[in-house]
Amino acid sequence: MKTNDVEILVIGAGIVGIATAYYLATEHKRSRLLIVDEGQPMALTSAQSGENYRNWWPHPTMADFTNHSTDLMEQIAHASDNRIHMTRRGYLLVTRDEKPEELLQQLHAGYGDAAARLIRLHEGSSRGYVPPHSADWQTAPDGVDVLLGRDLIRAHYPAFDHEVATALHIRRAGDISGQQLGQYMLESMRPLGAQFQQAKVLGIAKADRFAVDVLVGGATQTINADIIVNAAGPFAAHVAAMHGEDLPIVNVLQQKIAFADRNRAVDRRMPFAIDLDGQTLAWTDDEREALAAAPEFARLLQPMPGSIHCRPDGGDHGEWIKLGWAFNTETTTAPVREPELNPYFPEVVLRAASRLQPRLAHYLGALPRDRVHYGGYYPMTKENWPLIGAAKTPGVFLATALSGYGTMGACATGDLCARAVVAAPVPAFAHSLSLARYEDKALMDELEASASRGLL
Ligand SMILES: Cc1cc2nc3c(=O)[nH]c(=O)nc-3n(C[C@H](O)[C@H](O)[C@H](O)COP(=O)(O)OP(=O)(O)OC[C@H]3O[C@@H](n4cnc5c(N)ncnc54)[C@H](O)[C@@H]3O)c2cc1C
Repeated sequence: MKTNDVEILVIGAGIVGIATAYYLATEHKRSRLLIVDEGQPMALTSAQSGENYRNWWPHPTMADFTNHSTDLMEQIAHASDNRIHMTRRGYLLVTRDEKPEELLQQLHAGYGDAAARLIRLHEGSSRGYVPPHSADWQTAPDGVDVLLGRDLIRAHYPAFDHEVATALHIRRAGDISGQQLGQYMLESMRPLGAQFQQAKVLGIAKADRFAVDVLVGGATQTINADIIVNAAGPFAAHVAAMHGEDLPIVNVLQQKIAFADRNRAVDRRMPFAIDLDGQTLAWTDDEREALAAAPEFARLLQPMPGSIHCRPDGGDHGEWIKLGWAFNTETTTAPVREPELNPYFPEVVLRAASRLQPRLAHYLGALPRDRVHYGGYYPMTKENWPLIGAAKTPGVFLATALSGYGTMGACATGDLCARAVVAAPVPAFAHSLSLARYEDKALMDELEASASRGLL
């Protein structure tokens, strides 16, 4: 195939662009297919992911979407002898609230008609609760276990803050290796004709076909294409603007840390644990003074939201743990490839995580040298749903706005976007994930009124 004349040009070789190309090549036999990226495949946001997945969302459309993606990931895990390292110890959402009515309502709303079958309440006794001793995705239970009562939770999770009164254990959840998933897809589609080229898209013009100007090794070239897939991650709105289209997306920088847990503060068999409760962090007088002096950090003195998360990384015999907290709400429409990270973040997230797991407090002020502090953008629509399918510009398709769930959502996004490109039938929920949802006033009113956007 001549790489300057293709049927389909996918812009972006993150996990979402790769997955879209993969389904176009494998399911729909498209071979005149080129993926371009300014950098190496899987090197921008897709290299920053926590790589967790879950099928819990406060809305059935998003639950359907991630269930579909998990079905597809399972197919790949089967076909590749689990090269993607899929595990399934679940997500454990905890709160000190004894009766978190709103949370339980969201749980029921998310699972819709299946809620009665999938949600198991355990109060007083945990008979029937299968603890997450095994990481095997094939033997893990489905549904959700709701553990009610401090003693019950302490019996299973003794290292947690003893004030935790309710735990929701989402079972179809765990982690995968996003890098392995991307590599597997690239290797699978290469023999089918799909190609990758390192090239930065500079401009898009449309006559009878698209003429896309790209920068390759310092020289400008033009690629002619019939169809464009915009999978440019945080730069999707920038790419859309090249053909005169506005996308309703903003970017929010989020961060994580990972370090070697030499003190074994975290049980290696712990699920991905999320402390849902907000908190005001404890600072010394000197720290308060330093933070108050810097306007961008002064908010760390204020009450902070919940959803601090922590999980073991690298398997049962590994040593590393990952901590994250998506508390930033500052948006930007001008993302950069190497955003500046908040230097206080490692200490802040550690402090916050120590509330649920007091043993982590030993690392305060003494984080091991074996550590990584990383971050990237969540490209988000205001309702935190993705944009998958036809753009307004004929011939352009979107696979973007995957916020903090693009690793878990990549397979479904790739599948749905590929179907949109070839005009194949899509599942019922797909319509609501496309730009067309903004024409659906009832849905948009419902989303506007909902208390949770599923951001963890
Ligand atoms: C800190 C953090 C933690 C996360 N944790 C999780 C998690 O636990 N689970 C989960 O499911 N998701 C998680 N995510 C989200 C997930 O990482 C992303 O949703 C996903 O990687 C997005 O993939 P993408 O392909 O859309 O974007 P990207 O990986 O950013 O790929 C877009 C590509 O487009 C290229 N590009 C852009 N503009 C151009 C241009 N003009 N020309 C050529 N190429 C261009 C870029 O170089 C880039 O490689 C997390 C994200 C962050 C930041």
